[in-house]
Amino acid sequence: MLPLPVLERAAIEMTNANGTGQSVMEMSHRSGDFKPIIDKTEALLREIMHIPANYRVLFLQGGASLQFSMIPLNLAAGAEPGKASRRALYVDTGVWAQKAIEEAAKYADVSVQASSKDKNYTYIPAPSAAAGDEAYYHITLNNTIVGTRWPELPPAKLLGKVPLAADASSCILSEPLDVSRFGILYAGAQKNLGPAGTTVVIIREDLIGKAPAWTPVLLRYDIHAGEGSMYNTPPCYGIYIIGLVLEWLKAQGGVAAMEQKNREKAALLYDYLETSRMFRSPVEKPSRSLMNIPFVPVETGPDKRKEIEIRFVKEAAASGLVNLAGHRLLGGMRASIYNAMPTEGVQALVAFMESFEKRN
Ligand SMILES: *Cc1c(COP(=O)(O)O)cnc(C)c1O
Repeated sequence: MLPLPVLERAAIEMTNANGTGQSVMEMSHRSGDFKPIIDKTEALLREIMHIPANYRVLFLQGGASLQFSMIPLNLAAGAEPGKASRRALYVDTGVWAQKAIEEAAKYADVSVQASSKDKNYTYIPAPSAAAGDEAYYHITLNNTIVGTRWPELPPAKLLGKVPLAADASSCILSEPLDVSRFGILYAGAQKNLGPAGTTVVIIREDLIGKAPAWTPVLLRYDIHAGEGSMYNTPPCYGIYIIGLVLEWLKAQGGVAAMEQKNREKAALLYDYLETSRMFRSPVEKPSRSLMNIPFVPVETGPDKRKEIEIRFVKEAAASGLVNLAGHRLLGGMRASIYNAMPTEGVQALVAFMESFEKRN
């Protein structure tokens, strides 16, 4: 979801943004009309996330998935293609972590430090210590598909000087984050920030400029940082909408207020799941996500379970509750309750689940 006031404002400004007589989609990205838009978006993100001055904010394309390639390329690849120069550490917490690991293995000497594969990724494993000379330590802060979340970051003493790299695609701005704990933090915009097509990268300055010479120009952090995200045409409209989302978020009270609301929303659903005799959460309590809440029928027979799932998703959609099918790789159901989902939306879901349970 995007906040309704953001969509309404975008609609009003569609043909005439900031009195320019143009849509943001029509502006030259190097014009005096667009510059204030990208500057405002970056300034708001810095303010809301308390991003320290020695970090750069980049607005890129390619989604979080391209960061799976860019991070190892820029920080661990060797002087010749196909030869890693440095070791990179990863924690395997499910599909997105695995994709990051697979991609990194092409450019870096990858070592998987911990995994929760033994229990279908239903918990966050305890991280083990870095040796100290590795290029980075990669985690997926919120695992969108299985619905787990790191309850706390790997302790600084486990990492030593090794920079923490984190995929924050599905939890950025959902609760406060201490940016200074990270070397690099990235998020595809489409979950909590704005429309698909923009990726936000927050990177510590000392990690910029390490890419080997053969790195494709568009995949180099130093090029994007040096050109203020305008080496080529940036995703202008997405950057504009992110700016509107950030204004909305600030008016709501910022990330601390978001966290409080998100905790209340998640508690509504988790509390119901605790008492339900029809549905349960497959995720271990300390690792439960605030943003993505999967649930499965308690029923154990696979045919009966599938039948309940199909009927639930269909009847929910008929009641105006959409996008509740679990990820295609996992099945079951999943409620994604990002920042813009109002409490009433979760209340409506719980009320529907209670009535579905009674009727069945
Ligand atoms: C959605 C998602 C991705 C993939 O993002 P794209 O922008 O589609 O590449 C990666 N990681 C996490 C945690 C996600 O939720």
